[in-house]
Amino acid sequence: MRLRQYHTLAIILVFALLIIGCDGATQTPQPDDEPSNGNGTPLSITTTTATHLEETPDAFTVTKHETNIPGPTVFIIGGIHGNERAGWMVADDIAKTAEGITRGTVYVLPFANPQSVDGEASTRNAPGRGDLNRVFPGNPNGSQLEQLAHAIYRAVRDANPDMVLDLHEARGCYSEGNMGNSVIMHHEGYRLYLLDVLDNFNNSDLMQNTMAFTYLHAPPEGSFNRVITELLEIPVFTTETNRMSTSGSIASELQPLEDRIAQQRALIQRFLDTFEKRD
Ligand SMILES: [Zn+2]
Repeated sequence: MRLRQYHTLAIILVFALLIIGCDGATQTPQPDDEPSNGNGTPLSITTTTATHLEETPDAFTVTKHETNIPGPTVFIIGGIHGNERAGWMVADDIAKTAEGITRGTVYVLPFANPQSVDGEASTRNAPGRGDLNRVFPGNPNGSQLEQLAHAIYRAVRDANPDMVLDLHEARGCYSEGNMGNSVIMHHEGYRLYLLDVLDNFNNSDLMQNTMAFTYLHAPPEGSFNRVITELLEIPVFTTETNRMSTSGSIASELQPLEDRIAQQRALIQRFLDTFEKRD
C-alpha cells in the first residue's frame, strides 16, 4: 500500500470515528416506557373538542387527541347504551386524560346517547325512546333518535379512522347465549388480528381465573358496528364486558364495576398498541 492510500484510509477512519462519536453524543437515551418517534422526539399530544347537535338535549362532544408520533387514527365510542357504564367510564377518562395514547390520533366520544346516562339511574335507552343501536345510519330529517344516530355516523365518517372501538356491556356471558366476555367484529379482514389480540388479552395476568373472551360476529341490522363496517368499510371492534345483571338495572349487577373497567381498559390498550393503519 502506498503512502497516499494510507492517508486516504486514515481520513476515512477519522470520519468514521467522528460520525460514531457525534451520533453517540447527540442521542438522548429514552427510558423504555417513554414513547418517542424513534428519533428521540418525546410524545406530545394536542387536544381539541367538537360538540355536535349543540343546544339540543342530545348534544355530544368528541375529543380529539392528536400526537406527534406516527400511528393509526382510532375512534373510541362509549355510551350508546347508558347503563353499560364500564365502557363510557373508561372512554370518559381517556377523553379527559389521554391516558394510554402513545401514537397516532385518537378520537373519543364517551357519551353517544347522552339522555340515557344518569349516574346510577342510567338506562339502556333514553327515556321514551327506542334503541339507538338499531337505527344507524340514522336520518338527518327523521325522529330525534334518528337525527342523533346520523350525527354520530357523520362524526365518525368525517374523522375517517383506521378502526373503531365500540364499548358495550352485556347482561350475561356468551356461554349463556348472551354477548358478555366477547369482542364482536363484522369486518372480514381482521379475524386473525382480533384472535391474536384476544389470545394475548386472555393470557394476561388480569384474565387469570376469569372466563376467556371470545370472538363473535353478525351484529344486528341497524347497529353501529354493522353500519360503520358496511357503509364506511372501517373495522369496528365492539367490546362486551359482562355486567351479570339479572335485570336491565344497574342495581342488579353481580360482576364488580371495577373488574369490568379493568377489562375494558386492558382491551382498549391492546388495540391502541397493536393496530396498524389500513392499506
Ligand atoms: Zn350495548
